[in-house]
Amino acid sequence: MKFSALTIFPEMFDLFWSHGIVRRAIEGNHISASSINIRDFAEGRHKITDDRPFGGGCGMVMKPEPLASAIKAAGNDCPGAKTILMSPQGRAFNQDTAWELAKEEGLILVCGRYEGVDERICDTYIDDEISIGDYVLTGGELAAMIIIDAVTRLIPGVLGGEESAEKDSFSESLLEHGHYTRPREFEGMKVPEVLLSGDHARIEKWRQEESLIRTFLKRKDLLESRPLSKQEKKILESWCHDIERIIKS
Ligand code: SAM
Repeated sequence: MKFSALTIFPEMFDLFWSHGIVRRAIEGNHISASSINIRDFAEGRHKITDDRPFGGGCGMVMKPEPLASAIKAAGNDCPGAKTILMSPQGRAFNQDTAWELAKEEGLILVCGRYEGVDERICDTYIDDEISIGDYVLTGGELAAMIIIDAVTRLIPGVLGGEESAEKDSFSESLLEHGHYTRPREFEGMKVPEVLLSGDHARIEKWRQEESLIRTFLKRKDLLESRPLSKQEKKILESWCHDIERIIKS
């Protein structure tokens, strides 16, 4: 996977590329990554990348010519890459989108600034528009980093054991169970006994139940969006019985 972030603030990515899983993925040749300065493709002595909007109004708009040249240059580097505009108007980014994007050969992520990019760029150079949520950021850089981070950890080999990504929250529309580490007791709170038992079958069962309980309590909507397995129905029914018993007692 080749990530190219097109931005007028490439320095914002310097720390991002050099830390954590993203850095490890680059070093392990699982991904390659570059920040491309849109300004390098601007004409004239001042290398201007924005201009006033036609029709008047406040703010500035990113000029189409430097953007088009930057996208073409990134595309020449990775001809199979998909060009995505970071935009609050795009389709919502979630774990399914991350899995979908992880299958691509390359992603060219266009980071807007000001009022956004000239509409003609969207019409001709952009394959997809993605939003990281219903709020407006000052620029697309943070959005691009979020997408790169979420996608990178899904690329085979990046996390070491491929299982870790498969078991994360949102896989099969469930939130992941809670995690505990040493000490066994912290401020009077003990680690659940089952996790210390060494009984892997019991631990697995506890994790499944815990995952279902969390999802039910925190994100009921996820459970409503998919059919329940036989085992999950059994677990939910057993809580119903427990709750009924407590109410009646
Ligand atoms: N005027 C635009 C609008 O109302 O739709 C908002 C422009 S915003 C201030 C500047 C840039 O930040 C956008 O072009 C986009 O690249 C990025 N951006 C802002 N919010 C975003 C979001 N929720 N998801 C992804 N990118 C976002």
